Amino acid sequence: MQVKLNDLSRQYTTIKKEIDSAISKVVSNTQFIGGEPVSKFENNFAKYNNVNYCIGCANGTDALEIALESLGLTTKDEVLIPAITWVSTAGAVRNIGAKPIFVDIDENDLIDIDKATEKITPNTKAIIPVHLFGQAVDMNKLMDFSKKHNLYVIEDCAQAHGAQWNGKNVGAFGDLGTFSFYPGKNLGAFGDAGGIITNNRELDKKCRMIRNHGQITKHEFLTKGRNSRLDTLQASVLTVKLNYLNQWTSRRREIAKKYNSLLQDTPVKFKPFSEVLNHVYHLFVIKTDQRDQLKKHLEEKGIQTAIHYPIALPFSETFNDSNKYPNSLLSTQTSLTIPLYPEIEDEEVEFVANEIKSFFNIK
Ligand SMILES: *Cc1c(COP(=O)(O)O)cnc(C)c1O
Repeated sequence: MQVKLNDLSRQYTTIKKEIDSAISKVVSNTQFIGGEPVSKFENNFAKYNNVNYCIGCANGTDALEIALESLGLTTKDEVLIPAITWVSTAGAVRNIGAKPIFVDIDENDLIDIDKATEKITPNTKAIIPVHLFGQAVDMNKLMDFSKKHNLYVIEDCAQAHGAQWNGKNVGAFGDLGTFSFYPGKNLGAFGDAGGIITNNRELDKKCRMIRNHGQITKHEFLTKGRNSRLDTLQASVLTVKLNYLNQWTSRRREIAKKYNSLLQDTPVKFKPFSEVLNHVYHLFVIKTDQRDQLKKHLEEKGIQTAIHYPIALPFSETFNDSNKYPNSLLSTQTSLTIPLYPEIEDEEVEFVANEIKSFFNIK
């Protein structure tokens, strides 16, 4: 049996009619930039997250950069980010001219708020909690921390569409929340797309201007701006898919629960499934100190796996930071992502779990 990490064609098959009709509508209208499909998606996504505003943009990395720029961060400013995340989180901070300051992670691969305290300097202006793998950071604790140190908060929700902390969607706690709609994300377009959410009217206006060349009125521009609009075709796809997001999330959680029970007698570790914590399982990550051998075993059996992430950003050549990040280092050595996506079949999940058991000689 071949089990892929994700199979987007299965999802397309289930909603083909609706998607094809939405796309052909845009094509026959020939309004490819802006228009009703974009504002409709922005409104629906704001409503979905129970916030006032959503600003569509070209991708999740731009969403971070536009959010940082809207806060007016400058060259001396330092921004706290976790040492384990996709490179964009750190890249975006650097691209706007500010300085990414890495913080070690906790045992769940989330920014360790206690360790963040040690990194505060007079130049610290903001913090970017990343809701990694689909699990929410403890936002009560994080907001208390940011108030105490007078920091802006940008939530990187690229892997956590619809995840909640205490019943409130991620992205709605901070000054701004940023999303990626890269095809493989929990809510994915048919190409690149991104978005920003906020409850702050001024920040909404600022982000809208920045993504549209910094345009204030026709031919009047901010000093900074770019072209980072949400493509109309992508918006029309996202509107269709948003209607299915909760259903897909439930299925992701069901599979995670299944893995929990099937793998409970194995030596692999993972965050225990919780009915209360609204983890949306963008990825299902297990930990074992025999990671590389297990990965090889699964590959030989036709099971695709991945490592999120093989290198902590401070140790990468491009960021090259000599501080110690012991939990991040351990995570890079032990983490293995196994297949989980809404359309995966129960038999495939059982096959994966059985092959993990057989690796450890467990019946
Ligand atoms: C995917 C991702 C991004 C970037 O999104 P793109 O749309 O690929 O630019 C940013 N942060 C995290 C945590 C991500 O997983």
